[in-house]
Amino acid sequence: MPHVITQSCCSDGSCVYACPVNCIHPSPDEPGFATAEMLYIDPDACVDCGACVSACPVGAIAADTRLTDKQLPFIELNAAFYPKREGKLPPTSKLAPVLEAPKIDRRSGGPLTVAIVGSGPAAMYAADELLTQKGVRVNVFEKLPTPYGLVRAGVAPDHQSTKRVTKLFDTIGKQRNFRFFLNVEVGNHLTHAELLEHHHAVLYAVGAPNDRRLTIDGMDRPGTGTATEMVAWINGHPEFTDLPVDLTHERVVIVGNGNVAFDVARILTTDPDVLARTDISDHALAALRGSRVQEVVIAARRGPAFSAFTLPELIGLTSTCQVVLSAADHDLVMRDLAVETDPLTRGKLEILAKLGDASAPITTPRIRLAYQLTPQRVLGDGRVSGVEFGLTGTDQAYTIDAGLVLTSIGYRGKAIDALPFDDDAAVVPNDGGRVRGASGAYVAGWIKRGPTGFIGTNKSCAAETVRNLVADYNDGVLTAPVRKPGELEKLVHSRQPDVVDAAGWHAIDAAEIARGGDERPRDKFTTVEAMLAAAAAAPKPTVRQRLVASLQAH
Ligand code: NAP
Repeated sequence: MPHVITQSCCSDGSCVYACPVNCIHPSPDEPGFATAEMLYIDPDACVDCGACVSACPVGAIAADTRLTDKQLPFIELNAAFYPKREGKLPPTSKLAPVLEAPKIDRRSGGPLTVAIVGSGPAAMYAADELLTQKGVRVNVFEKLPTPYGLVRAGVAPDHQSTKRVTKLFDTIGKQRNFRFFLNVEVGNHLTHAELLEHHHAVLYAVGAPNDRRLTIDGMDRPGTGTATEMVAWINGHPEFTDLPVDLTHERVVIVGNGNVAFDVARILTTDPDVLARTDISDHALAALRGSRVQEVVIAARRGPAFSAFTLPELIGLTSTCQVVLSAADHDLVMRDLAVETDPLTRGKLEILAKLGDASAPITTPRIRLAYQLTPQRVLGDGRVSGVEFGLTGTDQAYTIDAGLVLTSIGYRGKAIDALPFDDDAAVVPNDGGRVRGASGAYVAGWIKRGPTGFIGTNKSCAAETVRNLVADYNDGVLTAPVRKPGELEKLVHSRQPDVVDAAGWHAIDAAEIARGGDERPRDKFTTVEAMLAAAAAAPKPTVRQRLVASLQAH
């Protein structure tokens, strides 16, 4: 009865270190870890102790007898990662080598103080890594009154298990030397230079907030947009509540076939009554209840073997939605299957080969995967009426009618004031997280390595940055803050009187959960004003708490 890792695997590797027999791979020290689509349990080596279940922050692991029908394909997927042993025993077990934690040379004159900008996974994992030691203080600055970045505003609402990683982040945020400055925008309320006056180092974990844009004719027509904006709208991000989303047409085309395209297609074709049990925004749910969309076409410019979505997400999609292929695309799948040798790609192709035929009448909203379509222009007289593609590698045109055209061709990092920026790669140029030519500045997450990977990928990414930051501190490279500890709070309040602290966030969190009632995990506030009103209900600190906080700050 081995344990099995399932779809919501976040790849942060916590399970690897919890496992007493080192049966979960690739582990963070192994070469395949950075590019793995998920982690896998060796069924021959697993001793079924369940330690990995407790360690997993997203509830992705279960005993094989406890899987739902939809999760059963993951038994084979885990086993397929390991060689067929034909009766031989798995390698002798030993603990996975734990990566060395950064060791701070403590010195008199106060703790190592680090400002982290952003509060998504890379930021929270960086804070955790820093706070593994005494003598460190971390201040986290976030533009919104609510923390956790893409976990709150990017992970699809029907993936609640993935959102459970916020419980881990809550625990990190409760550590003694951690402080939230929410609703504070660096670059607006505070500058990089000011942060450096108050901290030894500033670590940017701001993600990649923009979309890559498709530069073809017609992308400015009403009825065009991006999947990432749509995800933010679905998730109730306050800057996207007014996004014009018209669902009165029967077909939506999404250009690009990564996991974000899957997220949007799933939400557009899922029964709203099912979504009503998630934390989807009220405005998105209302729009979806009135939707006339019957088909979402996900169009890729290359063939099936080059699909950007991951195998776990394909398994998840095909077990919850009706997914079809045209006869021509089915032929492409069979062509690729005949020559493909990579096991993961073969796994995708084998699932694609079994999909239903798109020529069947549409009885329920469905998703069509389409291949070899290079977008040429968006059609329409005023509003969007369709997309003209070129059949990749030919000069033939192919038109798909649609009332909404979304691009889903990846995220793009944004330049940060006072730091260098590589415009081609859309990242801050860095060496292991040390920003080139900017002493005291560090990066982690998508702004460091580009928009790839999963939530947990940011754990090892942030750990590398923190190791280098601590090494610089130990080497005396970082300039000590010139301001006294208590001055930061005064400065922030003078620039942003509506700063929200941890107590304010907990009040927002509790109010949203209460609004969700018995049916929903939470009902989100979708405006900054409503968030601030909820934060204002937080209990004011007692005199004793204020005194302790002031002593800690010094
Ligand atoms: P992505 O995986 O990089 O996919 C981008 C897609 O856009 C590809 O199909 C790519 O095709 C296509 N594309 C790029 N430029 C194009 C152009 N000019 N014309 C037509 N197509 C173009 O991006 P993503 O979906 O935004 O995902 C970003 C990251 O987040 C990924 O690592 C993803 O796995 C992760 N993510 C994970 C989850 C999850 O685990 N549940 C959910 C969401 C996102 P080519 O391959 O031909 O370039």
